[in-house]
Amino acid sequence: MDFDEFREFGHASIEFIINYLSGIRERDVLPSVAPYTVINQLPKEIPEKPEHWREVLKDLESIILPGLTHWQSPYFNAFFPSSSSAGSIVGELLIAGIGVLGFSWICSPACTELEVVVMDWLAKFLKLPEHFQHASDGPGGGVIQGSASEAVLVAVLAAREQAVISCKETHPELSESEVRGKLIAYSSDQSNSCIEKAGVLAAMPIKLLPTGDDLILRGDTLAKAIEDDVAAGLIPVICVATLGTTGTCAYDDIDSLADVCQTLKVWLHVDAAYAGGGFALEECAELRRGLDRVDSLNFNLHKFMLVNFDCSAMWLKDANKVVDSFNVDRIYLKHKHEGQSQIPDFRHWQIPLGRRFRALKVWITFRTLGAEGLRSHVRKHIALAQQFEEFVKNDSRFEMVAPQALGLVCFRPRGDNEHTAQLLQRLMERKKIYMVKAEHAGRQFLRFAVCGMDAKPSDIEFAWTEIETQLTALLAEKSLAARKTRQCFRSDASLSDASGQ
Ligand code: PLP
Repeated sequence: MDFDEFREFGHASIEFIINYLSGIRERDVLPSVAPYTVINQLPKEIPEKPEHWREVLKDLESIILPGLTHWQSPYFNAFFPSSSSAGSIVGELLIAGIGVLGFSWICSPACTELEVVVMDWLAKFLKLPEHFQHASDGPGGGVIQGSASEAVLVAVLAAREQAVISCKETHPELSESEVRGKLIAYSSDQSNSCIEKAGVLAAMPIKLLPTGDDLILRGDTLAKAIEDDVAAGLIPVICVATLGTTGTCAYDDIDSLADVCQTLKVWLHVDAAYAGGGFALEECAELRRGLDRVDSLNFNLHKFMLVNFDCSAMWLKDANKVVDSFNVDRIYLKHKHEGQSQIPDFRHWQIPLGRRFRALKVWITFRTLGAEGLRSHVRKHIALAQQFEEFVKNDSRFEMVAPQALGLVCFRPRGDNEHTAQLLQRLMERKKIYMVKAEHAGRQFLRFAVCGMDAKPSDIEFAWTEIETQLTALLAEKSLAARKTRQCFRSDASLSDASGQ
């Protein structure tokens, strides 16, 4: 493909994206395809001869689009948002166009240095403790990981290696494998699946501690678990707390967890994958309580900062603990500016060697929206969730399950779990909106998450109308079925009477 053709292809693709996004409300948010629909429409091998890009875009329209769930639709209310914006989409295109990798400073100095700049910008914007900034005097700093899962895994692995080093010093009589066999980590039963998975990948069990009715993990629960484990000869390594759990957006009590972790020298990591967006707002200042005492934290820009997937910010109070844990070098990776402060070789801060120039899309997003635009985005999601909450509270057929938190509302139709499941099934079959359910203490409920690239109050009204009319229809069907059953029962009874039985 020469550059003229490339230009045409690129322009047509941007047109395609704009048409797709501007018409997204006209599509059902969930696709209607059966399994294998896409597989069966595509050839089994790479085409031998090059095809024209127009043919490819045509197939994208006719084969791929019908098989998509539309994550940027405001009617996508499942999980948490996977945010996006014009600036970040163009940023992603430019990243691919420029095509650099930035695993060490010399590989592309601007790639590393821009990341240092945007991570410090973000730390300030979110009002994080100063020691998380590269520009601070200490060994702290931020890095962009692909996902929250990666950030958590990095924290878990680094904490594990640090624990092994210190335990070998204090217990020289133990072999390394004996030490490793005794390691144990903690999180709450509300934490995201990626935390438990990090434990599996790190070959270190993570105990999911019970939370009470308010779904919050507190220091006393952690302290008791650690006390029991130490008595059993285990070595506590890390506690992964959550600010904004996936189920209900509950906030663990970081202050009391930090008390325990600091006293017992346990690494404290905070997974704020979603709720980190709230740190930026003065009215959510309470969320930041205790963050000055955590060792590391992560926040997904691809959830709440209008940067498209994948882009997960991670900050470390002492980055050396990660670098020292993961530093495996080769002569071909070395350069003469290694080790200089504020020019990290980010390959030591992450799992892969290669790394994308994600800082570019962050920089473009931040500049094209400004801090003001980012804050108003978070505030808009909160306001839309409050609008939805009002609808729930004003309809006595529904009940709230947890307090509305940021852009999430957890609610259910009154009645048993089957009722909730049936309502959700109806909604899924109609495909107009997409929600998922969650469960706590045996009670299932629905999660309504404000998502989409540009959700508006009218979208919330649309979703609510869909939910409440489907509940009306479900209740009508159920009462008709109950009437029929009663009639059958009565006619069976009168038949028995007539036959004298
Ligand atoms: N942590 C929390 C609280 C989440 O809600 C999620 C996903 O929604 C994750 C972690 C995992 O995020 P990622 O897909 O970036 O790994």
